[in-house]
Amino acid sequence: MSRRFIAGARCQSCRAEDTLYFDSQSTSDIVLCVDCGFTEARPKSVDVPTPPGADEIVPLKFPMT
Ligand SMILES: [Zn+2]
Repeated sequence: MSRRFIAGARCQSCRAEDTLYFDSQSTSDIVLCVDCGFTEARPKSVDVPTPPGADEIVPLKFPMT
């Protein structure tokens, strides 16, 4: 069993930082606090917003001298 801690996240209940982690046992994204036992459901879709133009592919050109 592994815990994926969320860096920089603050617990809404006890206001502690870096105590929140994802519950890997759950099928949905549940965030738990190791400090006070607070739990919160988090939708995955808002985790990492994709910036526009991020999937643009720039060809690499090596100098052939
Ligand atoms: Zn807490």
